[in-house]
Amino acid sequence: MQDFRPIDLLNATLGRGSIVLVRADLNVPIDDAGNLRDATRLTRLLPTLEALKSAGMRVGILSHFGRPKGVADASLSLARVATALGQLMKEQIAFAEDCIGPLAASALASLPEGGICVLENTRFHAGEEADDADFTAALADLAHAYVNDAFSAAHRAHASTHGLAKLLPAYCGLAMQNELDALESALGNPARPLVAVVGGAKISTKLELVGNLSHKVDTLIIGGGMANTFLAAQGVEVGTSLCETGMLDTSRAITAEAEANGCRILLPIDGVVASAFAEGQTGTQVDITHVPDNQMILDAGPKAVKDICSAFGDARTLIWNGPLGAFEIAPFDAATSAAARHAAELTKAGRLKSIAGGGDTVAALNHAGVVEDFSYVSTAGGAFLEWLEGKKLPGVEALTEQEETGK
Ligand code: AMP
Repeated sequence: MQDFRPIDLLNATLGRGSIVLVRADLNVPIDDAGNLRDATRLTRLLPTLEALKSAGMRVGILSHFGRPKGVADASLSLARVATALGQLMKEQIAFAEDCIGPLAASALASLPEGGICVLENTRFHAGEEADDADFTAALADLAHAYVNDAFSAAHRAHASTHGLAKLLPAYCGLAMQNELDALESALGNPARPLVAVVGGAKISTKLELVGNLSHKVDTLIIGGGMANTFLAAQGVEVGTSLCETGMLDTSRAITAEAEANGCRILLPIDGVVASAFAEGQTGTQVDITHVPDNQMILDAGPKAVKDICSAFGDARTLIWNGPLGAFEIAPFDAATSAAARHAAELTKAGRLKSIAGGGDTVAALNHAGVVEDFSYVSTAGGAFLEWLEGKKLPGVEALTEQEETGK
């Protein structure tokens, strides 16, 4: 496990009133009326903010919001998120109309001890995404220390996620540490047997993920549209199902490599089929070798769910990315919800450590009502996937490198 400087150390080292820049992920869903649609990312930031506040730090929050591509765009201002954060924390949160220069400096200087100011969208400056030295230096000029608490942005080598860690004493935020601990327990040093579910639409978008997992897990459960391609590669007729015919050789190669690594690949033995992916369809259960020519597989069937639940029952650790079926429309949500509920029950009984994440997965687990019962659900999309793919994340590496150079 990589060791990072924790914020306790920051609080013990810096005097009250010191200015700390916290890289957060305030890229939260907000509707046209300015209402927050999901506060998870803000809620997870609170422990770090509370720790810094209670040590009397003056806190400037840095974040991106949307993709303004280096130009100020009022519709992508963080002002509304600052208000939402203030409502959540039940206190006044200041807002600075720039994240560098005199506006930012004076907003931070006028904070009381323990005060918080959200600085405007870092991506209003082209230097952010370019990890530009001058822009990074302008950020560093504002503060005495830097905390990165944005795991979900750590796969980007940007000024506020990467460069800044080299110019200021850098610390790991509590949410970041939590996420890294959860991932480490899932893939770094997991209790075995270790089972992974990889579902979703297409194998072509998850090749690196499946490749890396097949070297590490004991059982790899392939679900969703991806499973159709693996089934077709074995000669199964999949009717009008989503199937990537250009990926048949790749699927066979993945299966052969997994088997050579001692990783069992579990594919659905039955499915739920319909004539179209649309509202109002009645799904029909069929054995996987009996998919009608004019029908498509839209969910795993009950026998497949039984196999999946039995694999969960034998496992000590579960990693889950991607739904088992087209869960957005009933009844094709059934397999994902049933398997997710079983994983949640095993987790609550203390028999399984369950870690899930990545875009649609969080939506699918929310739909099944089990997010709170999993051991850890990551809200990081790209960063979560890149970590599972075995890649090094620049934002995490920057915190480690500083540790190594003793800066
Ligand atoms: P991904 O973003 O790759 O995790 O894919 C998620 C999407 O896969 C969801 O929108 C699901 O509707 C879709 N999906 C899952 N299973 C199937 C299937 N059997 N056929 C078509 N789409 C599917």
